[in-house]
Amino acid sequence: MIDLRSDTVTKPSEAMRHAMATAPVGDDVIDADPTVAKLQSTIAEMLGKPAAMFMPSGTMTNQVAVRLHCKPGDELICESGCHIYNYEQGGFAQLSGLVAKTVTGQGSVIQLEQLDGLIHPDNEHAVYTRLVCLENTHNRGGGVVLPYDGVVEICEWAHQNGLKTHLDGARLFNAVVASGISVDQWAKHFDTISVCFSKGLGAPVGSALIGETEMMHEVRRHRKLFGGGMRQSGVIAAGALYAIENNITRLAEDHQTSQIIAQGVSQIEGFHLEPERVDTNIVIFKIDRDICTAHEMCDALYEAGVWVLPFSREHVRAVTHLHITPDQAESACRVIQQVAHQRLSRARST
Ligand SMILES: *Cc1c(COP(=O)(O)O)cnc(C)c1O
Repeated sequence: MIDLRSDTVTKPSEAMRHAMATAPVGDDVIDADPTVAKLQSTIAEMLGKPAAMFMPSGTMTNQVAVRLHCKPGDELICESGCHIYNYEQGGFAQLSGLVAKTVTGQGSVIQLEQLDGLIHPDNEHAVYTRLVCLENTHNRGGGVVLPYDGVVEICEWAHQNGLKTHLDGARLFNAVVASGISVDQWAKHFDTISVCFSKGLGAPVGSALIGETEMMHEVRRHRKLFGGGMRQSGVIAAGALYAIENNITRLAEDHQTSQIIAQGVSQIEGFHLEPERVDTNIVIFKIDRDICTAHEMCDALYEAGVWVLPFSREHVRAVTHLHITPDQAESACRVIQQVAHQRLSRARST
């Protein structure tokens, strides 16, 4: 089975497991766990910020960030396909009493002009606009790397207008490797950044929220409130540390295997890459309605040994990661082409 469902399906290597098994630990709620402390200082330093806090998931780091920047009744601005708005159960509303203003970007990329006039005036009819959230790379956008200059413009606009900025950087290191722009360069425009160790980096668990030292007292309180205070969490932090020490530059390999898949899919009649250009490790393709649904295609591919997920009625997502070799990517292509041709001839003959 070639598992292209997500870059979260990776399992820790022997070396990563060894690092986890031998990590020094302590109680990170009572005081501190030395391995968590080391992970936090390492990731903060990489991003050029003073402090970081380790949490169990990227959903939690995002939700703690919006909680930190906003009060109940405030509004955040985000792209309409983003994770914070679509895949976190509206946690910003459920947990923190916030509303969201969504902006549908061009190919998932918000343009500065689209933000013009979105900040509410101080008027008793309106909520306060407090925060802009961006996502890089953008998952629903097909792993697109945000244009650097656009990110700078939007963050400058936000700060000039008294707003805070948060980056959902679940796959920020994919953006770093694909763009050649360093992680601290991307990070410096944001007040807070969330990064996931459990995506392409290949750790089993964990994310970090990175920002200023003064924020961390509140961040730690919110993490505890949301149930993220962990005890001997050095065991999992060691996997994350191993991941950032060993698995960043190799993301380039995932970007190559995704190109193989994109190439193969683009040759199939009735199949369309969306977006057409694949920047990183995510390939999304649309299937013409008269061929079959995304669900039917995923079921048929599963039977044939390729595991991918439907992303909408017509869209399928395939994600490459550290267990996928170029050979596997090639054979996944062949399987997708075979299954597609079967469906195509069935659809065209009826
Ligand atoms: C995976 C992901 C997250 C966090 O997901 P968790 O499963 O909660 O760790 C956040 N944002 C994006 C864009 C993601 O892809």
